Formats: sequence, structure tokens, C-alpha cells
Amino acid sequence: MSPTLELDKRIPLPTPATPTACHSNPQAFDVDRGEVTDPAAADRIQRAKTTCRTCPIAAACLRWALTHPDLTRTNVWAATTAPERAALRKRLAGRLGPNWVGVIARHSSDT
Ligand code: SF4
Repeated sequence: MSPTLELDKRIPLPTPATPTACHSNPQAFDVDRGEVTDPAAADRIQRAKTTCRTCPIAAACLRWALTHPDLTRTNVWAATTAPERAALRKRLAGRLGPNWVGVIARHSSDT
């Protein structure tokens, strides 16, 4: 049985005023886990990351991607690959504690 993929309603998926680059050209952000370390995909991954760095909703996108690991197992999200997001989640858990998602959710509702 596959795991339930649930949205955390406390942290909504950001909705941009105009389509972002990943909405307009989703293939450019498609990166499966095997490609992350594949030199043949390095330029494409770097281009996607560079594009994300100019995205007006990058901060909210990163917050959503970090707090929805089951829904962001692949691809570039907010200039990060899946292993980079895993490392960031580990750092957040170390800094904020085991309920780090709850801490982020509370902060999200403040902003
Ligand atoms: S920051 Fe997020 S919403 Fe913006 S282009 Fe990158 S993946 Fe898309």
C-alpha cells in the first residue's frame, strides 16, 4: 500500500499572481533521484536552481516543499534538490526540535 500523501492545511501551497517558471515549463524542473548525481543532468539542475532564485514566491515554495516531503521526493523546488531538502529538514529538526513543522506552521500564519 502506498503512503497517504496529505497536504498540511496549516501551510498552503503558494499561489503566485502570475505563473512561475515551473508552472510554464515544468519539464525544466523535473529531476528524478537518480539524476541528482548524474553529471549529464548537472547543467539542467543548475539552470532550474538559477531560475528559482529569481522566483517571487521562492521562500513560500521552499517552506511548502520542506514541510511536504512525501509530495516533493523529486524535482527541483525552490532551488533545492531532494537530497538538499532532506539535509535542510534534518537541520531544522536539530534547530527547532521534533515538531519543527509545527513551528514553521505557526510562523507561516504570522506572515
Ligand atoms: S521557487 Fe518554486 S514556484 Fe518558483 S520556480 Fe522554483 S519551484 Fe517553481
